[in-house]
Amino acid sequence: MTDWKLPWEAGCRCDRLRMSISAAPLLTMACHCTGCQRMTGSAFSLSMAIPSKGFSITRGEPVIGGLHGATRHFFCPHCMSWMFTRPEGFDFVNLRATMLDDASSFVPFIETYTSEKLPWATTPAPHSFEKFPALDEYKGLMEKYAEWVENSTA
Ligand SMILES: [Zn+2]
Ligand SMILES: [Zn+2]
Repeated sequence: MTDWKLPWEAGCRCDRLRMSISAAPLLTMACHCTGCQRMTGSAFSLSMAIPSKGFSITRGEPVIGGLHGATRHFFCPHCMSWMFTRPEGFDFVNLRATMLDDASSFVPFIETYTSEKLPWATTPAPHSFEKFPALDEYKGLMEKYAEWVENSTA
């Protein structure tokens, strides 16, 4: 069994908004889409899918930003950091991995939207997708991710 050393604590740039993660990630991701490039001001976003029941906000009140659509992007109202996303139709939260107090062990398992990536941008993710994976691919990817973590921490 992987020892995740949960819970993990996380916070925004100004630390007014604090979060706690008490469930292991289902999947870790880097997204190269131009939307993520704009929202991060960088080459790609980094996220980890945390089961909704294992994610809680322990201080502060996030506000909606980004696209304001069915998939909701949450920000700190003070420092405006993009904290996490609640993707439509999924029972998990996509936490921006760099909000973790210690993100040093984060590695993306999949990368998405390589069709829009900056030519030089590469990640160590073992699985690449031109767009997003098909909805029915996520279950298998999550199983492979669990095995990958198990093997890399054994
Ligand atoms: Zn903040
Ligand atoms: Zn994206």
